[in-house]
Order: sequence, then C-alpha cells, then structure tokens
Amino acid sequence: TQAPVITVDGPSGAGKGTLCMLLAEKLGWHLLDSGAIYRVLALAAIHHGVNPDSEEALVPLAAHLDVQFKAEGDLVKVILEGEDVSSELRKEETGMAASKVAALPRVREALLRRQRAFAEAPGLVADGRDMGTVVFPKAEAKIFLDASAEERAQRRMNQLQLKGLDVNFDRLLSEIQERDDRDRNRAVAPLRPADDAFVLDSTSLNIEQVLEQALSYIESKL
Ligand code: C5P
Repeated sequence: TQAPVITVDGPSGAGKGTLCMLLAEKLGWHLLDSGAIYRVLALAAIHHGVNPDSEEALVPLAAHLDVQFKAEGDLVKVILEGEDVSSELRKEETGMAASKVAALPRVREALLRRQRAFAEAPGLVADGRDMGTVVFPKAEAKIFLDASAEERAQRRMNQLQLKGLDVNFDRLLSEIQERDDRDRNRAVAPLRPADDAFVLDSTSLNIEQVLEQALSYIESKL
C-alpha cells in the first residue's frame, strides 16, 4: 500500500509553500513542491531553445527531465542538468512560463509518474494545483489554501521588499491574476478544490493560525 499523503492546493501566493514546509517538518514526512517541477521544465525549455508552446517538443523534455532537489538546511537547492537554477526558479517570469507549459495536457501526463514517486514512507506533503484532484485523488487529507488576490499580492510585495527589491503593487496584482486565470481556466487539471477538500481561507489569518487549523483538520483525518 502507498504511503499516506496530505495535499495542499491553491492559487499562487496563498502560503502553500510555507504551510507545506512546516507540516513536513512537524510530521517528519517528505515534501513535494510540484510547482518547482513545472518551473524547472519551463527553464529547461528556455535553456534548450525549445518552443514553450510546442507540446510535441515539450513532452520528451518532460519525460527525461534531469532535476535534483537537494535539501540544505531549511533551503532546497534545485539542480537542472548539473546547474544550480534555484534563484532563476523563483522569479515571477519563470512562474508565468511554468503556467504556460502546465496548460498542455500531454506535458502534465508526462510528469505524473515522477510526482507520484514522491509518495514514500513515512508519508508525503504535496504542494500544487491538482494534488488532491488528479495526482493523489485518494489522499488521506486534502487542504485547499485560498486568500484574496489583493492579500496575496500584498504578501508577495512584503517578501520582495524584505529582500530589498523595489516593487509595484498593481503590477504584482495583475501578474497574480493573470497566472490564476490561466491555472483556473485550463481544460486539464484546472485549479479547483477537490470535492472532499477542506477549504482554508487565509486572507485574515497569520501563519500560526493557518498551521493550527490545518493541523486540527489533519488530525481528524489521519
Ligand atoms: O506553485 P508555483 O507558483 O511554483 O507553480 C508554478 C506554476 O506551475 C503554476 O502557476 C501552475 O501553472 C503550474 N502548476 C501546475 N500544477 C501543479 C503545480 C504547479 O499546473 N501541481
């Protein structure tokens, strides 16, 4: 039988990454950042000069993606074909490119097995858009972490300002909305809560409160 899985889906910037890291740490389980896989694929396409609109060309690239995730303390280094792409990976333009390749059905299919392989003992916390609906439909616990677009843009702006970057709120908000619209409206594996998901709206909650609600839901399910 498969190891237990907790899925956390939701729109970009809702705090899934932080929540999943805390849950994985607390439970001592593995962590799957599925968005990072789509981001790496988008970077691989750019590096190889592959047209990011060509499903034909992207499928073999997805099937043979040479990527490693190396934990270094609290950080995870992402190595694509031997090259550290960690900082390139987190850029908004990479997220935007990822959401384009992620809309292609055969690309998603080519990445399914790689994602399911993360479900190893003692368990997995899986972060993404379709973890509870498509990749792990039988997961023991499913969370859909939401927040208003304005709140997500505000949090992103705070993060970037902490790094000393100068950012424009309206631009962040429109990027977030553009990416969300594409993720929600695509034909295959659109962003939506699974029917049996616990919808957790974090708009007016801090991370401690989100963690507390997530844990009490998870305890009721495991
Ligand atoms: O979560 P993250 O921002 O890293 O995801 C980047 C993009 O990858 C998303 O906007 C989405 O289009 C795609 N993605 C997806 N399915 C997932 C995870 C991410 O389509 N499970």
